[in-house]
Amino acid sequence: MGQCSGSGSEIKAFAGATRTWEENPHRAGARGAGDKEKMSLSEQSSFTMMSLIEELFPICRSITGNGVRQTLAILKAHLPLEICEVPSGTRVLDWTIPLEWNIRDAYVARQDGTRIVDFLANNLHVVQYSRPIDAKMPLSELLPHLHSLPDQPDRIPYRTSYYAENWGFCISHRQLSGLTDEYYRVVVDADLSPGHLTYGELFIPGAIDDTVLFSCHICHPSLANDNLSGIAVATMLALHLQTIRPRYSYRFLFIPGTIGSLTWLARNEDKTARIRHGLVLSCLGDAGGITYKQSRRSRAMIDRIVTHVLSHDELPYSIRPFVPYGYDERQYCSPGFNLPVGCLMRTPNGEYSEYHTSADNLSLLRSESLTHSLSVLQRIVAVIEGNAVYLSRNPKGEPQLGRRGLYAPIGGQRTATYDQMALLWVANLADGRHSLLDIAERAGIPFAKIRAAADALIGAKLLEITNESLELGPYK
Ligand code: ZN
Repeated sequence: MGQCSGSGSEIKAFAGATRTWEENPHRAGARGAGDKEKMSLSEQSSFTMMSLIEELFPICRSITGNGVRQTLAILKAHLPLEICEVPSGTRVLDWTIPLEWNIRDAYVARQDGTRIVDFLANNLHVVQYSRPIDAKMPLSELLPHLHSLPDQPDRIPYRTSYYAENWGFCISHRQLSGLTDEYYRVVVDADLSPGHLTYGELFIPGAIDDTVLFSCHICHPSLANDNLSGIAVATMLALHLQTIRPRYSYRFLFIPGTIGSLTWLARNEDKTARIRHGLVLSCLGDAGGITYKQSRRSRAMIDRIVTHVLSHDELPYSIRPFVPYGYDERQYCSPGFNLPVGCLMRTPNGEYSEYHTSADNLSLLRSESLTHSLSVLQRIVAVIEGNAVYLSRNPKGEPQLGRRGLYAPIGGQRTATYDQMALLWVANLADGRHSLLDIAERAGIPFAKIRAAADALIGAKLLEITNESLELGPYK
């Protein structure tokens, strides 16, 4: 059932496989060779993400076809992706992989040949999966195939018809209202024929087989926030994870929406039991605050971790319950899998006016939003990586922190490196039953400070690890 190529299904070593910052092809164009020293790490991340998005933006992606392949080839310049091709007609759970769609050209023209709607000017102009056509027709026959947004008269809508054979064009309502010719020529120069569905996968092995899943869709044409922002942030996160030796294993999926996750799940059901935490990434570059959509389980560890991280973030955020609508969390959270996978976004799909229109373009993105989204994800990963259960070696009475160089009076002059309340909370709750996340939640202190306090207490031989199970329930 399909083929994968690239780096092997379980990549064991990435040495030399990833481009360094200096080798990044996006870097050279906009900045001089000496600029690296002048850019902070977050500026470098932001620059790489924006450059990647700019490079991917013009490509006409769909759920199958060469636009997806081209996109994955560009990502492969950054990450050692495994590229998988699964034939049309393959049954994937209750679905079937459709015919492959590739488009070369499409237009609506006046009788004199003047193109008035031109796919080559904006790939949103064609309804995705439009079947080939070359016909002259009266306006009355053309109109049912034209899609516009009366409420947003200057924007081109984004429409698809993956599973119902049809053809159509998307145009601004202003343009639609101005069509007065009696006849038009309509051309869609496309192939809709047996081929493959293509997706990309990256497995970063950790110390344990338990896996963290990150999934983003790669099937939208020239839309920036919806699909490209998730791709860019996921790419940077994967680059980051490759520089550390993670405790968990990480799996990144770059897949066409819906049919791609169904395909991956159908082909990898044996791997799903190892997924301990997961996030679908989408719409991460707009100016809005973070929105977290919980997993179907609602109290999965990932739900707690994201809630904790956001609760200590300086920016506004919202958390909403799972609903069986949205992105690929619909598939990961279907009852037969019920994976602990939530969805991390800024403004959710359908809730910003530019969504699925030509206004979801590069100007909608904020580099500081991309950087902040990445930062939130890195903090989430830090909790996943750093959570553990400890036992105090001095449970009777408080340990004397002063003689171990760990004491600073609360509210007094700060001489210690460590947060005193974090030290006291960890020393108190390290009873073999509370994880560091339990302690961070109960103390109302960011996980990073709790983690640092635990490390200090371990260094002073006041703590020992008892149980690395992360599935302990919330504190009692
Ligand atoms: Zn979308």
